[in-house]
Amino acid sequence: TSIFETVELAPRDPILGLTEQYNADTRTEKVNLGVGVYYDDQGRIPLLKAVQQAEAQRAQAAAPRGYLPIEGLAAYNKGAQTLLLGKDSAIIADGRALTVQTIGGTGALKIGADFLKQLSPNAKVVISNPSWENHRAIFERAGFVVENYPYYNPETHGLDFDGMVGALKALPKGTVVVLHACCHNPTGVDPTAAQWQEIAATVKNAGLVPFLDIAYQGFGDGLEQDASVVRLFADLGMTMLVSSSFSKSFSLYGERVGALTLICGSKDENARVLSQVKRVIRTNYSNPPTHGGTVVASVLNTPELYSLWVDELGEMRNRIRSMREQLVTKLKDHGVKQNFDFVMAQRGMFSYSGLTAAQVDALRNDHGVYAVSSGRICVAALNSRNIDYVVNAIAKVIG
Ligand code: PLP
Repeated sequence: TSIFETVELAPRDPILGLTEQYNADTRTEKVNLGVGVYYDDQGRIPLLKAVQQAEAQRAQAAAPRGYLPIEGLAAYNKGAQTLLLGKDSAIIADGRALTVQTIGGTGALKIGADFLKQLSPNAKVVISNPSWENHRAIFERAGFVVENYPYYNPETHGLDFDGMVGALKALPKGTVVVLHACCHNPTGVDPTAAQWQEIAATVKNAGLVPFLDIAYQGFGDGLEQDASVVRLFADLGMTMLVSSSFSKSFSLYGERVGALTLICGSKDENARVLSQVKRVIRTNYSNPPTHGGTVVASVLNTPELYSLWVDELGEMRNRIRSMREQLVTKLKDHGVKQNFDFVMAQRGMFSYSGLTAAQVDALRNDHGVYAVSSGRICVAALNSRNIDYVVNAIAKVIG
């Protein structure tokens, strides 16, 4: 008999399953808005010029591929930390921040979750309702009970601020709160600066443990602006965890470039925490890969490449904003009565479009336009060639 005889078939990942269906679709006009990836106006995943130049230099150097340290490349970690906290950060100067290179933002969440489980085995984890699909799964796999706090209000297409703050206030001390620092996935709805002040104060007063997830830094209002939430929490003196991802901002999805940053109470604490985080990494995958980290590190630490990257990231951000504008205007021009203005207030790659599950089905079946059943669309998958087709299809299914 096989030891695997009783293994059950796991359900398909809903989003990856959608892409499989899309790939099998033979209609030439099909459009995939179900993805979580930035496409350029030609519908391609860009290879940024800053990345190309860093890669060319790396190929030229023909450097050997020995193991990296457990915590990854020092230059990468320093670059990632500076992006989060700013180059004049007192926390960095005081030696209170530590950053380790991880296998994407997912790896940062997993290492952070395993470390927290070791530290506070009985704590509960809360995530936004809704949240990125993998948040719940990652923390549950690490052994935590995961619950939701209110976040999205479908009636206003905005934030349920009172519900959120009320729920956070009622949580037991030590509860881990996962927060999207900018460009909330899947809704695109972010709190305002004033709301963040209150959220941060609530988290602090209730003695909760903030775990900020920042996977889209640069896609909201800019690199510095998008880090303001991380800095707000840090400046209130909170000790916390931050997972960052460069998958989107460097368009390096398959290189698995992420970082976990922990802000500790003191320099001495920092050294002890690092030693434990390294054990968690060592027993997960030993040490991170070299290529993506080296490329990102040279972009972050070379002024010319850095400013090239900032420009390219700005272009991606502006293109998404322009697609949001065009979507809203063209739907109006098409005579669609339903108001879509809220799409303009959303940030990042995604929009909770307000389309119902039935409308999403009709979009796919009748028009070959793929979206997630929640109504989430990836605005970054719209372009000048498919937008009219998509608008027309949405207008038809809304009726
Ligand atoms: N966190 C959020 C909110 C995300 O949307 C994503 C990716 O979609 C990640 C983390 C993980 O990023 P990575 O692909 O770098 O693992």
